[in-house]
Amino acid sequence: MSGRYVPLDVAPADFEAFARTFGEHGYAGGNVTIPHKEVAWRVSALRDDAAEAVGAVNTLWIEDGRIAGANTDVHGFLANLDDRAPGWDRAYVALVLGAGGAARAAVYGLIRRGIRDIRIANRTPERARELADHFGAGVSGHGNDALREIAADAGLVVNVTPRGMSADQSIPLDPAFLPSDAIVSDTVYVPLETPLLAASRGRGLRTVDGLGMLLHQAAPAFAKWFGVMPEVTPELRAMVVSDLERIA
Ligand code: NAP
Repeated sequence: MSGRYVPLDVAPADFEAFARTFGEHGYAGGNVTIPHKEVAWRVSALRDDAAEAVGAVNTLWIEDGRIAGANTDVHGFLANLDDRAPGWDRAYVALVLGAGGAARAAVYGLIRRGIRDIRIANRTPERARELADHFGAGVSGHGNDALREIAADAGLVVNVTPRGMSADQSIPLDPAFLPSDAIVSDTVYVPLETPLLAASRGRGLRTVDGLGMLLHQAAPAFAKWFGVMPEVTPELRAMVVSDLERIA
């Protein structure tokens, strides 16, 4: 297949004009990241259900001459858990660490899969409460000071803060607060094993790293642009892991 996937540095002030005309620059579509996901949502004339519910678009393409937008982070998040921790959705309580854009996608995914009690904990408690109010019944917002209490019966933990990324080796939650059958997942993937995952593994908990989310969110985006759905295979993962090791 002849094609290229190129990084473009577009300033916030220029993004809307760029997003409205990317087809004229020869692009079949693109992925969009912070801080452009909300503007991408706004310029999309057609949106998938996940984008509609989350209020953010990470994938753009042209459909019948119109700009279309999807949120494939939701699929990536769920497919990664299905792949690495099948049965994870038997958890009754899920604890989401962080209340930004990725947390929004994660909470929507958890609701879609029927998790009954979703607790969002955030450094800025108001943002956690706002996100909980957005989704309504079954979702609650908390400050990080409540972590010990709200983690005690959590069957699933999702870190959607940047804590644990290479530059910040801090831990967003002490896994000693968790029950012994909890599954701990991270969305950070550099490093692959964050301090949270290492400490959780040390306690004997099941862990899921963030690389699978990245791979699985990319597959449906590729399908929108080229009409071919790539498979996320162990070989693909190994190739990306070796790239990450080279960068690190
Ligand atoms: P965002 O909208 O900027 O939200 C960041 C969240 O993290 C906010 O809730 C923020 O709290 C919290 N936070 C930031 N720094 C913190 C710190 N030092 N201590 C405590 N809390 C802190 O970002 P996002 O788009 O949601 O992305 C969050 C993370 O998700 C990223 O770091 C990325 O690694 C990961 N992610 C991974 C994938 C994947 O494919 N694997 C996809 C998307 C995102 P406040 O509200 O208090 O500021």
